[in-house]
Amino acid sequence: MKTETSVHGLAASLHTARSAKKVIGFVPTMGNLHEGHLSLVREAKKICDVVVVSIFVNPTQFGPNEDFENYPRTLEQDSQLLVDVGCDIIFAPSVDQMYVKKPVITRIQVTELTEILCGASRPNHFDGVALIVTKLFNIVQPHYAFFGQKDFQQVAVVKQLVQDLNLNVEVIALPTVRAEDGLALSSRNVYLSVEQRAIAPLIYQSLLDAERTLHEGETLADVLAQTKERLQAAGFTIDYVEAFTPHLHFVQSTDKEFVLFVAVKLGTTRLIDNLYVKLIKD
Ligand code: AMP
Repeated sequence: MKTETSVHGLAASLHTARSAKKVIGFVPTMGNLHEGHLSLVREAKKICDVVVVSIFVNPTQFGPNEDFENYPRTLEQDSQLLVDVGCDIIFAPSVDQMYVKKPVITRIQVTELTEILCGASRPNHFDGVALIVTKLFNIVQPHYAFFGQKDFQQVAVVKQLVQDLNLNVEVIALPTVRAEDGLALSSRNVYLSVEQRAIAPLIYQSLLDAERTLHEGETLADVLAQTKERLQAAGFTIDYVEAFTPHLHFVQSTDKEFVLFVAVKLGTTRLIDNLYVKLIKD
């Protein structure tokens, strides 16, 4: 496995693979890798000849009061995990390497999809995501790119971006990997105190209970309100508890398929999760 820190170095490393018409897979991450990230790499290995994993904590997707400075950076540990899953190239550029001329004055903005959920509570977050993903796709030029459904809205934004800009890459979204108690794995889980970690699984539990009560016939509005109350009572600060269609449109009363979304804070740690719900049988 090679580690490249420059755009030119990566291009040189990929040159032979490209000339030999190898299938290139790409997994963009911010590092501090866990089983969620590694599951993406394993899937990439199944259908690609060469897998590139980027590790870059992207400043443009963090708000001024968010955790950019404190975000866990664990390159050595990440490298070991990536060797073990058969990653071929790590791309770990510096901020200066990715943003040579600051401030960046080019905007890539996916509208509509970014006006709800995390886009509403984290202004400019998805502009930062769209910018870095576009840059990384141009640098790596992968055939396939792998993303986690845990960041459901991010997947929708990236797919839209790829479609609207005719980017030559296929986006593959993979299921959320969870701890045994149901908590979605996240690099931010390391911020949780022992007490906070103990109540965090309630996020997923409340989503599963919401799904069950929906199947029992309760209305979506009631279920969302109950879920919110329950999480609040347990000590979470609610950012949102909402439902949208799988294409992130508003749910109509006739819709039988939708996604439940939760974003909460435990202390200063923001956690998100979602659950796809289908009320009809195939
Ligand atoms: P991040 O490092 O948080 O930017 O995440 C990098 C990629 O890993 C994104 O596509 C995430 O959706 C994905 N990812 C993060 N956590 C999980 C998880 N628990 N299960 C599956 N994929 C995940």
